Amino acid sequence: MMMNVIDSIRRTAVEHPDRIAVISGSEVLCYGDLWKRSGRLAGWLCQTLEYGGDEERLPVAVYGHKSPWMLVCFLGLVRSGRGYCPIDISVPEKRIQSILAALPSRIVLAAQNPSDGLAGMNSKEFILPDRLREICSDPGYEAPLPQKSVKGEDLFYMIFTSGSTGVPKGVQITSDCLNRFLDWSVGLAGEKRKVFLNQAPFSFDLSVMDLYTCMAAGGTLFCLSRSVQADYAALFDALRCSGANVWVSTPSFAEVCLADPAFCESLLPELKVFLFCGETLLNRTARKLLRNFPGARIYNTYGPTESTVAVTGVEVTKTLADDKEPLPVGIPKPGTRIEIWDADGKALAEGEKGEIVIIGDTVSPGYYHQPELTRKAFFEAGNTEKGWRGYRTGDEGYLEKGCLHYCGRIDLQVKLHGYRIELGDIESNLCRIPEVRNAVVLPNERGGKVSSLTAYILREPGGRDGTEADMASGIRKSLAEFLPEYMIPRKYVFVDEIPMTSNGKADRKSLAGLKAKAGKGNNEDGTR
Ligand code: AMP
Repeated sequence: MMMNVIDSIRRTAVEHPDRIAVISGSEVLCYGDLWKRSGRLAGWLCQTLEYGGDEERLPVAVYGHKSPWMLVCFLGLVRSGRGYCPIDISVPEKRIQSILAALPSRIVLAAQNPSDGLAGMNSKEFILPDRLREICSDPGYEAPLPQKSVKGEDLFYMIFTSGSTGVPKGVQITSDCLNRFLDWSVGLAGEKRKVFLNQAPFSFDLSVMDLYTCMAAGGTLFCLSRSVQADYAALFDALRCSGANVWVSTPSFAEVCLADPAFCESLLPELKVFLFCGETLLNRTARKLLRNFPGARIYNTYGPTESTVAVTGVEVTKTLADDKEPLPVGIPKPGTRIEIWDADGKALAEGEKGEIVIIGDTVSPGYYHQPELTRKAFFEAGNTEKGWRGYRTGDEGYLEKGCLHYCGRIDLQVKLHGYRIELGDIESNLCRIPEVRNAVVLPNERGGKVSSLTAYILREPGGRDGTEADMASGIRKSLAEFLPEYMIPRKYVFVDEIPMTSNGKADRKSLAGLKAKAGKGNNEDGTR
């Protein structure tokens, strides 16, 4: 029978109310309280928000960073029959405003106090942390919920990803999609209750892998906040205290940890499984991990947010890490078929390289309120597999004995330290800056991965004078109003023209050549 994560949480809350569900810094929440508080919040939502109209199924934004209260909000919303949309505090105010503006829901649940600019949005009512605590401690909201709670096809969560036109797009994931993914991921992690490490903010779908696999297994989620991750000593202290059994992160994060020889079995003696997703796992990273953690298994999993976290996976043994470079991304999970298509949408044979197409029961119904984009990327899979949908990933790859190999992108999306970035998103935001007439952003690669971004800027004539270093720093500042830190290019090269191809698009190849020849540009701090 298919997993039901809400039922699993309820069961753990009833059978083991004192078991710890989440630890985040000094905040700890047990299953009993998670269930009770989310139930009261659900009751309050049902009383407060309009019922009967479309409003009842709208995703509601939840703002914060790794607080156990975010989880209370997620579950409260789902239990009241609505989906949620997680928004991390690290996203710049203007980008959050544009996301919130796309959500018709009037209320925003704030696990942390929002900035003045957000709190002052006329169209939104922030339910602030103090109010949330009041609601969740009021037994008056415990009345049985109307028979609205989550159905298979209902939205469970919606996550915004970088969009090529400069506007993020909301990927909708239903309850069925999530539960089918969990049927598979709980098996990978091992079924006994465990401590799961959470690295990614809840606004990234990688966090779904640790958060809900953990909740489905009745485990404890150990969150590493942004500030802890930024401080080596604090990070290693936290890891030592975590007692983690299951590690979930991008490979980049593991590489950061591996830079210190102390990152080994004696630091995390109970660690049994590494689950990686989101970007290329390098052979040398896998080999080092196998050496440092001889008792742990490593899985390389692959998938876009649109297919619910991951749809293929492979255990990376020492033999595989030594023999196959680059590493494969694995075989499809049950309920998924991978096809490789040519540019005309024709399925290719094994071994032939083309676009990776995911067909299965965890593919999203589409982008929120974006029918055109949805039509372009998603399709119904037909009658043979009822309810299966297809998604054209834009990834390039090939199959070998049913195992998927990933070869990069066929478009202008990149992964930088595990973050998904549409270069067009940065370019559109650069062109909003008055001094910029046109801009092209190119990735720089090192050791088989994107390591930084360079922006090629064509200035608006008659713009402000100043050194290139001053201009670079001005552009960087303006960009930071709209884009998260990880999307801001490190280098800026000022060009006299952007070369064009015969069909009128920016000629990225010539620019890349220019970059190779010049090999210079202004770093963010104005140095070269
Ligand atoms: P996101 O939606 O943020 O999870 O990003 C999805 C994209 O990350 C995919 O379309 C791939 O381009 C890339 N990706 C995901 N998993 C892997 C992997 N195991 N190896 C290489 N690239 C990956």
